[in-house]
Amino acid sequence: MGERAVTHELKTGGDRGYLRIATEEAFATEEQMDAILRLVREGKADKGTKSLWGFYGTSSSERTTFIRERLLDLGPLRIQAMDETGIDKALLALTSPGVQSIHDVEEAKGIARRANDHLKAACEKYPDRFHGMIAICPQDAEWSAEELKRGKEELGFHGVQVNSHTHGHYLDEEQFDPILRACADLDLPLYIHPQGPPDDMIGGMVDAGLDGAIFGFAAETSYHAMRMLTTGVFDRYPSLQMVLGHGCEGLPFWLYRLNYMHQAGIRSRRYPRLKPQLHNLQYYLRNNVLATNSGLPFAPAIKLLIEVMGEDRVMYAMDYPYEYVPDEVRWMDDLPIGDEQKKKFFQTNAERWFKLGSA
Ligand code: MN
Repeated sequence: MGERAVTHELKTGGDRGYLRIATEEAFATEEQMDAILRLVREGKADKGTKSLWGFYGTSSSERTTFIRERLLDLGPLRIQAMDETGIDKALLALTSPGVQSIHDVEEAKGIARRANDHLKAACEKYPDRFHGMIAICPQDAEWSAEELKRGKEELGFHGVQVNSHTHGHYLDEEQFDPILRACADLDLPLYIHPQGPPDDMIGGMVDAGLDGAIFGFAAETSYHAMRMLTTGVFDRYPSLQMVLGHGCEGLPFWLYRLNYMHQAGIRSRRYPRLKPQLHNLQYYLRNNVLATNSGLPFAPAIKLLIEVMGEDRVMYAMDYPYEYVPDEVRWMDDLPIGDEQKKKFFQTNAERWFKLGSA
């Protein structure tokens, strides 16, 4: 954090002994933005979407103009930005909230499917630079399971991004089981990415200016992840990998307390929903959870993630275009970790978990 001298040039091609693969990079489609902004204009968006896209979609500030333009670009602008920051490959996903805020399920499915086709075309144009994550429409779980199959087998994509809650509902609920089963069967990592908290959680966060990426995103997404971790999901699907960005949304920092209180709650039978599981939370964090450092180029946090989760489970992400600061890449190059760990962090963990194939 703070000012530091520019230490080295940023180049693609592995001049530092590793390629840089950025694993949580966002794009949008025109029709997705139009549909979400229509909800905002018509007063039909939930409070989190209204706060997020009412701002990013309409503000004329330099930051929001940059982000809107860059989200819609899957061409030369993005490649140039990657070249200028030494990013060899980007794993791209339809930006938050995907189609999950949309009420008309048929419309939502169409937008998700066409976004997948649009991304596929970009990946074909830049096969060495772009890789795809599948967009789904959790409002229709059976359709989503089919789209996951198409995304993997026909489009050659590498995982799925779900933008946390869907109208206040969470993936551990039975209605979404076809999605979890498809991810496990197809061996697709399930990336749970934030969006604004649902109306029954957001409370005073908007008034406080804290509903977005500053705080509310992590509070809501870590809650989502804890629901997954405490309801037997990973006993039902022991091979399923759940990916969390932004430093695993803080969970590794809290792990001792989460685990202690979880075990205490099970023993005392305080909550009917919390039943004994095959393993403790530390086990699931080290066997079923992957982390990226999107938006968190912060050495103390990354070292903690590696220590708690293991060096094979922590990956680099930039969070372009929301975060685009070349110096942050330099700080990550200078992380005080071993050379082998750094190569895992920037390159080989992403290749392994997302099956990107080595270059
Ligand atoms: Mn992101």
